[in-house]
Amino acid sequence: MLSTPEAKFACQAVAQVSGLVKQIQGEMVSPALTKNDRSPVTVGDYAAQAVFASYLQDTFPRDILVGEEQANALREPEQAETLQRICGFVKRLIPSATPDRVCDWIDRGTGEPAERFWTLDPIDGTKGFLRGDQYAVALALIEKGEPILGLLGCPNLRLPEFFPHDDPGVLFLAIKGQGVAVTSLEKTKTWHPVSVSEVTDPSQTRLFGSYESGHTNDTQVVSFREKLQTVLDPVRLDSQAKYGLLAAGAGEILVRFLSASRPNYREKIWDHAAGMLVVTEAGGMVSDLDGKPLDFTQGRELTENRGILATNGKVHNAAVAAIREIGA
Ligand code: AMP
Ligand code: MG
Repeated sequence: MLSTPEAKFACQAVAQVSGLVKQIQGEMVSPALTKNDRSPVTVGDYAAQAVFASYLQDTFPRDILVGEEQANALREPEQAETLQRICGFVKRLIPSATPDRVCDWIDRGTGEPAERFWTLDPIDGTKGFLRGDQYAVALALIEKGEPILGLLGCPNLRLPEFFPHDDPGVLFLAIKGQGVAVTSLEKTKTWHPVSVSEVTDPSQTRLFGSYESGHTNDTQVVSFREKLQTVLDPVRLDSQAKYGLLAAGAGEILVRFLSASRPNYREKIWDHAAGMLVVTEAGGMVSDLDGKPLDFTQGRELTENRGILATNGKVHNAAVAAIREIGA
């Protein structure tokens, strides 16, 4: 699977970053955390983007990075303590880190999408991260508007059929035209190819959706399930770990309806680029709710698309028809 310098680099980088954010979750997320204390996410997001950007600078110094974070707020004097904390975590992987360097690395992620660029969601699924639940480190390399490399580091995801004896934590790697494989984050030695499920009957499909109601439309999820007459309970989890599970055949449909409170929300490219390639290289299909291909040429957001539909391919047309029929 690691056939190009980019794939090799990306795997090592995402595995390292995934290990670091897992440590941060383990050390900072506790039951005592108050509901609006987002400090573990703040520290984790910034530390992860800093580490990845620094690695990218060393290996592909001219490449553009489009990341979710930027360091403006961190440079304010009142953030000095948070910045020190972030720097402390970054030092675990890059001993030469200083607060100033950390800010500069983070700001490497303020690049604009171009002919070739990397896009990173350092912690996708921040709500899951704070709950001690699922999240992902998501990285894609996009060339001429198409994801050609997609990685999902999922530190809390278990795939017992492949790794019955390992701790949770898997890494998906998709390379355009070459398929997708998964390895355990504990060992990153053995790669297993994965492919989508063979289910063709829409009533036998399992749905994946956001854990957070505010990221979707629960009423439409219910109507959609009724249209397809699905009998299996849907699985709700955070982040692009959903795309990984779909690629591995653990379910057939991932749908993201537009939240009623934010009907004009447009998806961010880093929330879907890696996941999309993971699913399509496993034999599935990804589009928006109207069945339109995702358009990664529009900047940091998928402005030409509404919501997301990813399936095992075999039930895609039926799902698009059902979405149209319920008027979503
Ligand atoms: P998920 O875990 O699938 O719910 O997706 C998490 C991602 O949803 C985050 O990375 C956010 O970028 C994104 N998000 C935030 N607000 C919304 C919204 N109103 N609708 C859809 N996605 C959102
Ligand atoms: Mg995200």
